[in-house]
Amino acid sequence: MKSPEKIIVQVILDKPLKDVFDYIWNEAHLRTTPKLGMLVELPFGSSSLVGIVVGVSTHSNIELAKLKAVKTLSPLPCLDKKIRELAEFASRYYIYGLGETLLPAIPKWWRSPANWEKGLGVARIDKLNVIKITPSHDKVIDPEQLNQDQVDALRHLSDADHKKFQTLFLNGVTGSGKTAVYLNYLQQVISNHRDAQVLILLPEINLTPQLERRIASHMPNQEMAVLHSGLSDKQRARAWYAATTGKAKVILGTRLSILTPIPNLATIVVDEEHDSSFKQQEGLGYSARDLAIWRAKNESIPILLCSATPSLETWHAIGQGRYKEIKLSERIHQAQMPIIELIQTQQADRGTVISGIFKRTLQNNFQEGRQALIFVNRRGFAPALSCGSCDWLSECPDCSGFMVMHKQLGSRRSPVLCCHHCGLTKSVPRSCPKCGDSDLLPLGRGTQKIEEQIREIIPQAKVLRVDADTARTGKLSEALFTKIHQGEADIIVGTQMLSKGHDYQNIGLVCVLDADARLYSNDYRAPETLFAQLVQVAGRAGRSGGEQAKMLIETRYPNDPVYQYLCNYDLAGFMKHLLKDRQDSRLPPYVSQALVHAQSTHMADSLNFLAGAKVFLEKKSPNQGRLVCFDPVPKALAKVAGKERAQLLIEAESRTQLQTQLNALDEFLRNQSTGRITKQGKVRWSIERDPLLI
Ligand SMILES: [Zn+2]
Ligand SMILES: [Zn+2]
Repeated sequence: MKSPEKIIVQVILDKPLKDVFDYIWNEAHLRTTPKLGMLVELPFGSSSLVGIVVGVSTHSNIELAKLKAVKTLSPLPCLDKKIRELAEFASRYYIYGLGETLLPAIPKWWRSPANWEKGLGVARIDKLNVIKITPSHDKVIDPEQLNQDQVDALRHLSDADHKKFQTLFLNGVTGSGKTAVYLNYLQQVISNHRDAQVLILLPEINLTPQLERRIASHMPNQEMAVLHSGLSDKQRARAWYAATTGKAKVILGTRLSILTPIPNLATIVVDEEHDSSFKQQEGLGYSARDLAIWRAKNESIPILLCSATPSLETWHAIGQGRYKEIKLSERIHQAQMPIIELIQTQQADRGTVISGIFKRTLQNNFQEGRQALIFVNRRGFAPALSCGSCDWLSECPDCSGFMVMHKQLGSRRSPVLCCHHCGLTKSVPRSCPKCGDSDLLPLGRGTQKIEEQIREIIPQAKVLRVDADTARTGKLSEALFTKIHQGEADIIVGTQMLSKGHDYQNIGLVCVLDADARLYSNDYRAPETLFAQLVQVAGRAGRSGGEQAKMLIETRYPNDPVYQYLCNYDLAGFMKHLLKDRQDSRLPPYVSQALVHAQSTHMADSLNFLAGAKVFLEKKSPNQGRLVCFDPVPKALAKVAGKERAQLLIEAESRTQLQTQLNALDEFLRNQSTGRITKQGKVRWSIERDPLLI
């Protein structure tokens, strides 16, 4: 008699591998039939791992006797077809293993089989208190209180077909009340469609508390799931579970939440869609914005992108008629954007002098009782420490950058040098390590130095500093912003962290110091990013109406198009200028790009490895078609934490063509590697699609 056929499941694991693994499914032991998307615990080598079932069959290419059996089954609902399709797309497009794409998107708590005990895990999570959210007293949000512009925009959104994919773009100058419009829209979606869930993607954690409170006051009866990296493992597990089981109607999260299963997803909002935080730099180098659009298309639902300064890609798509634009051009309370004044600085001034105009304007603003925001693009006291007698500079021994001087850092009250690339921290030397001279000078200026100088200029002002050092955690940053809103600060000095999304009420002056620093880097997106930042920064001022606010910008190049278009708030003109520039220089969105990254102890090994990749690509498509493969080069920041880094840029006019070539290259490189480390163990490599920095 023939024994009943064994059931074999194919499972993916969080490993840098393309393979699936076969396991035996023992139905008597697991008490259920296998289903796609189940999260299971598996023996692997001498330990155990969790994996996801992606196939079921009765056949394996491996001898049955050698196969191990699935150990336990999680109590989670199966990852549904839609989320598996999204992960498959992401894995294909970003050339990354399916397991290493999908598994890290499940909260860590759920990936630990110790929490799976039948019923118990879920009960334990269900018992967790929902984080209490104090509703905000923001009244603007009521549909009756929207201005005509907002009402029109809301009507456009309500008219959109909810069973059809469509990309809408809400173009609203800062302070025009975009959030009120999309929250009203989402509320309509939830009340008009049974079980409907909505997803809001935000670029940064420190934007969530403010929005959470607004949602809580606007939709008090809806459960909200908040997903970001600042939560405890359990809170995150709870929020994810509420989203996955359809219980949470509003899901609010940063980029990783795009890979959350949401069974009844009815629409997606991507707020500040231009923000580079939507792009993950390490590992699966995905763009949450791009994945959100793919997801909406795959699920046949509308998606709404919002920004005052759209990405060039979005602007291009509107021009081609692929996205539909909805405009909000009026600021609420008839508030005006600030008048912009450019202050031309000389090379020699940089980093030392606070200009006379700046001082006087700041003093006047203080006397008028209005707050001022001062943007500095570096945190710390000074970008580097130098020797007064020789050419010594505080270079990091492990990176090709300088160690930044901090007057205090974290719990350390005495001055330290800290490398912002690798984190190495040392005490400030008493004398020059090279010549022994004790005359060491801070070079340039960071947030701490500006804070100190401002305290000297206006000693009676309350000065507050907001940067990655003072706002290390969500809690600290919220406390700082509460202080600002309650008027407990007259002058706020900070990095661009200050510029995003916060509703300041009493800002009469905004100053941007050393605005050019980004402009003349080798990043071709620098003008676009700088323009967006400056518009965001300008938008912080004069939100409550009253006398028109002022914005001062320090630059060495006042004639640069970025500043010229900015002074007139001419977004359309600037976008047109940029598109022309990109087209002329064959850059995205007119070509598609990919980078191959390599790092090792010696630059020569990194470069040789990439040279091999280039030879392969050129052999594979000898007539090159429209594929351009540049020479391998060291990265702009060539050394980080002792590793020498290089890159190879590949360009093509067609995405499909680029995809084919990259798949072939990935296979070629994998054949000489274990995972993504070459077999000799010398070089670690990765492939990145649509890189932001080249
Ligand atoms: Zn010296
Ligand atoms: Zn370093």
